[in-house]
Amino acid sequence: MSLRWGWQLSPPRLPQKPRGGNPDDAYTAMTPDFFDEGQLVSVLTTQPLDRLLDYKAPEGGCWLGAFVEVPLGPRKVLGVVWGPGKGDYDHAKIRSVIRVLDAAPMRDEMRTFLGRAADYTLTPMPAMLRLATRAPGLGDAPSMRLVYRLGSKTPDRMTEAREKVLAVLNDYGGLAFTLAELAEMAGVGTSVVKGLVKQGAVSEEAAPRDTPYPQLDPDYGGKDLTDDQSIGARVLREAVRSRTYGTTLLRGVTGSGKTEVYLEAVAEALRIGRQALVLLPEIALTGEFIDRVEARFGMRPAEWHSGVTMTERRRCWKMVGQGAAQLVVGARSALFLPFRDLGLIVVDEEHDTSYKQEDGVLYNARDMTVLRASLNAAQVVLASATPSLESWANVEAGKYARLDLASRFGAAVLPRMAAIDMRAEEMPGAKWISPTLARAVEARIERKEQALLFLNRRGYAPVTLCRACGAQIGCDHCDAKMVEHRFLKRLMCHQCGETKPMPTKCPSCEAEDRLAPVGPGVERLAEEAAERFPEARIAVLSSDLYGSARALKAHIAEIAEGGADIIIGTQLVAKGHNFPHLTLVGVIDADLGLQGSDLRAAERTFQLMRQVAGRAGRAEAPGEALLQTFQPEHPVIRAILAGDEEGFWMAEAGERRAAGVPPYGRMAGIILSSPNVQEVFDLGTEMARNDRPLRQIGAQVYGPAPAPIARIRGRHRVRLLVKAEKTAPLQQALAQWVAQFRLPANLRLSIDIDPQSFY
Ligand code: ADP
Ligand code: ZN
Repeated sequence: MSLRWGWQLSPPRLPQKPRGGNPDDAYTAMTPDFFDEGQLVSVLTTQPLDRLLDYKAPEGGCWLGAFVEVPLGPRKVLGVVWGPGKGDYDHAKIRSVIRVLDAAPMRDEMRTFLGRAADYTLTPMPAMLRLATRAPGLGDAPSMRLVYRLGSKTPDRMTEAREKVLAVLNDYGGLAFTLAELAEMAGVGTSVVKGLVKQGAVSEEAAPRDTPYPQLDPDYGGKDLTDDQSIGARVLREAVRSRTYGTTLLRGVTGSGKTEVYLEAVAEALRIGRQALVLLPEIALTGEFIDRVEARFGMRPAEWHSGVTMTERRRCWKMVGQGAAQLVVGARSALFLPFRDLGLIVVDEEHDTSYKQEDGVLYNARDMTVLRASLNAAQVVLASATPSLESWANVEAGKYARLDLASRFGAAVLPRMAAIDMRAEEMPGAKWISPTLARAVEARIERKEQALLFLNRRGYAPVTLCRACGAQIGCDHCDAKMVEHRFLKRLMCHQCGETKPMPTKCPSCEAEDRLAPVGPGVERLAEEAAERFPEARIAVLSSDLYGSARALKAHIAEIAEGGADIIIGTQLVAKGHNFPHLTLVGVIDADLGLQGSDLRAAERTFQLMRQVAGRAGRAEAPGEALLQTFQPEHPVIRAILAGDEEGFWMAEAGERRAAGVPPYGRMAGIILSSPNVQEVFDLGTEMARNDRPLRQIGAQVYGPAPAPIARIRGRHRVRLLVKAEKTAPLQQALAQWVAQFRLPANLRLSIDIDPQSFY
């Protein structure tokens, strides 16, 4: 969803009940915690309205923060009791709340959090509430299911299968299982369990589906930490115990044990009875990660990401609110779960760009984490091998603490890094693996080690060109090239997802069989590798080759265990997977990220290259990383090779400071889009001219200019960029500025505070 400009920008300021205020505080009296039947309450709904609605409290009354179902026209909608009613509406016409849902009321700090996040991102409150209620069936009565536990009788006849079932139930004491779970754990058919039920040896009963998560044991499987791991763990444990807000940047190369260390902080949160949240950038990671949590705490935590079933999502949402889930491992939106007492949030791989949500509510989960924690008196741990410049700058400014893990755990050392100067390599046309890199790969194959060839381009070829007329095949709806995916036998637009069959004729000049791929994608690279290393087993890891996160996860595990000699991958592989047999990383095109006008291009390249290189040599065998580049003297490439992280950050920070850009200045992107190209430019020009509210805070507007991708899904896109000083009240000024204009019906305006990508 882009912001349609119906909503007044700032959410209404609601009286905030001071926490722990004394009872005769006038403020407390103004916002009671409880409303008796018939009293007026104002309700924030998930519907795109620009105000709160008044209702009468239902029979039995309701709490402030209660999740309720209210009538809206002919419909029933979800809402939250946000405060006392305003009473500025005909009392006789005010309807009653239909019912209070079976869920813990939204807590004060959560309401404050949503309000502040809305202010910061200039998002309407209903959209924020939708983010906070993204679990289906919240309004449903708790559904029931049959569960099985140990019964009181002994069966008249004992069989081996029956013994197995009873053994499982005995092992797990009083725990109850579903039929399928129990049969699977015992390794018997479900009829065996049913038979035992008939005999009274197993009892069958109905239990609510949304059951508490199993208790985690903070002292179950801790490892013996190295010295600097121990120091880190101790500092974080103390921070968690303080029950105050604080943010720590936990830095250390891949494999240095950052996860081990922050799991100690999680353990401490569990010990003091507070909840913990671990955010991960990719759902593909959670499988491996969940196993690790289980090994550490004896049981599996709650999970929240797109791979989780709807039933499980609802269970997670509800149990988190009741405090019956101690640890949640999830994707960025888990930050909006209704924790009862959140004491710690870990953002793993904090520099990862997927923490920024790029559609709907445009928020950066890393920044919102810090906001949420500060409202919850909770600790934040930002873990990364290659922190974002934002976090690095916050450490420099004294806002975040910093912990460094100096070395890799055990024998593993950072790989040796070297550039392959492509100007000096002999390269036949349409080939991308240089002779130098090929020799290094061959050596690995001989030694039965793994090699990774990294290329951050999905598909077969990024461009398909007609050799007769020179036309390149583009998307019909976007200003983007269609990418050939030979695996799927289709062309695909990476912008809008549109696909079409690979044509045999040129769409422009109709010449037959003259279409040719230009440039490499991972699929084409795999083809070259297969030719070049015919005896090797080759696996391609690219997000679009897998139907599901589960399939991807399974494949990664298989490869990591030695299921392939050569791994060909996109940035997917850069993200934390463990490949113990991997000792060579070849970066096919290290220059790829250095082009482009993105202000973070150098930072991204640096991070990505370091991370990819960090895949090599995790276990005992030392690794090597080779970077194919045409500009080995480029400062970013040199910093990567020298491993001079501090030097890179200093240089990059200096440049950004001089330019007054983030993190040393503030930016907002405004994208106008419409099917009508004239309208977007007209409005953009009008906005640029009438920029008084912005000038008043010393901010400048750039544009309008066609957005780097000037058309997506048939909508023309124009961009304005606003730049301000770090301390300027940017959101307020933006709100005033934008409120001056009337938007044509079909035109969408969206504001992206702190834009991460510039497309
Ligand atoms: P990072 O999160 O920094 O990449 P991990 O915590 O994943 O590092 O550690 C890398 C590997 O080393 C993991 O398999 C981890 O279990 C192991 N490891 C790290 N520290 C220890 C330790 N103190 N004792 C045993 N194994 C460890
Ligand atoms: Zn497209």
